[in-house]
Amino acid sequence: MASIKLSHITKSFGSVTAIKDINLDVVDGDFLVLLGPSGCGKSTLLRMLAGLETISDGAIYLGDRRIDGLPPSERDMAFVFQSYALYPHKSVGENIGFPLLMRYFRWWFHIPILGTIAKRRVERSPEIAQSVTRTAKILGLTEMLDRLPRTLSGGQRQRVALGRAMVRQPEVFLMDEPLSNLDAKLRTTMRAEITKLHRDLKGTFVYVTHDQVEAMTMGTKIALLRDGQLQQFGTPREIYEDPANTYVAGFIGVPSMNLIRSRYSDDGFRIGPVKITLPNRLMAAARKANCPTLLGVRPNALRIGRSDEPHALQGTVVLVEQVGAESNVSVELTADATSVEQDQSSNTIIITTPGYSELELGTLISVSMDLEQAVLFSAKTGERIRA
Ligand code: ATP
Repeated sequence: MASIKLSHITKSFGSVTAIKDINLDVVDGDFLVLLGPSGCGKSTLLRMLAGLETISDGAIYLGDRRIDGLPPSERDMAFVFQSYALYPHKSVGENIGFPLLMRYFRWWFHIPILGTIAKRRVERSPEIAQSVTRTAKILGLTEMLDRLPRTLSGGQRQRVALGRAMVRQPEVFLMDEPLSNLDAKLRTTMRAEITKLHRDLKGTFVYVTHDQVEAMTMGTKIALLRDGQLQQFGTPREIYEDPANTYVAGFIGVPSMNLIRSRYSDDGFRIGPVKITLPNRLMAAARKANCPTLLGVRPNALRIGRSDEPHALQGTVVLVEQVGAESNVSVELTADATSVEQDQSSNTIIITTPGYSELELGTLISVSMDLEQAVLFSAKTGERIRA
């Protein structure tokens, strides 16, 4: 069983605590994405799983086996690096077969001539040759087995690196930003290829990225980190629809969720001077919290409406960005209906509208909200408020 359990994992580098008391349960066959901005500790966590970094506290289990004291070679995990880490003087076939060759390694492989002949014989053994051929076929590398890495494109090199991990048939694949050296188009293609690989191999994958689109499209689970702390762990849908705090809400989704300053008092729920009728669950949450709140509304849950509509906010168009099938319209709300964006006070919200927006800058508009999809946070702590 390739389930992984991280129990109270902590990592300190001198006075810097890079990972703070992380608990995660990864089910066999999951594609876990470790997501977060630069420096949040994702690579450190992955390296601890691989055994390339010691842990300061806690325990790591693979199935029922505790593995944090084991060397990397005994963990049954294969690591794919951002830099591919291929051997430049070895052919594609030799690179892919290298981990298998290592299984048969003997000290006398180092002896000149004799060692070379012995290595060749092992490399050509039916077991290794068949594994390399099968792996190359899955990855579309059959025609390139005799070429050197420098003659390949970035995407092809990354496939060789994947192949080298696959031949070992590990229980767990660990990948550290494997697509970050590729251009946008190739990233999209490789994203789909790795997802398919995961489906076909049915292994457990742990994948590090700072790219939320990769996380949302590839992961069956996402662990979102910030400053070494776990912010939320769940399916991509849970993280998108049910964010635990304003940090998660702001990190996932492009453009970010709008966070609109609001408050509940005895005469109802208001954004600035505008009285808002919330759905029952949100009203109950606001009443219970009884503190200044941030109403979280995704840009696609906002609509440019008529001013006489209920819940309509007034504002001025300050920016229109055309992004092909839709447009992102930034609207500066009129005084008092103040909103905040992630970590910084601002008076602007973003609306995503279908098609090519012809709105002129400076136009006065009304904004109506689909509050069925809205969520509520404490303005003080940023934590989610639930009924
Ligand atoms: P990136 O996306 O930029 O690679 P990351 O989320 O993977 O970032 P880590 O590389 O895990 O972040 O680093 C987390 C924190 O630990 C950072 O503050 C980093 O400076 C620190 N750190 C990592 N490795 C070491 C080390 N060997 N010695 C000291 N500090 C380290």
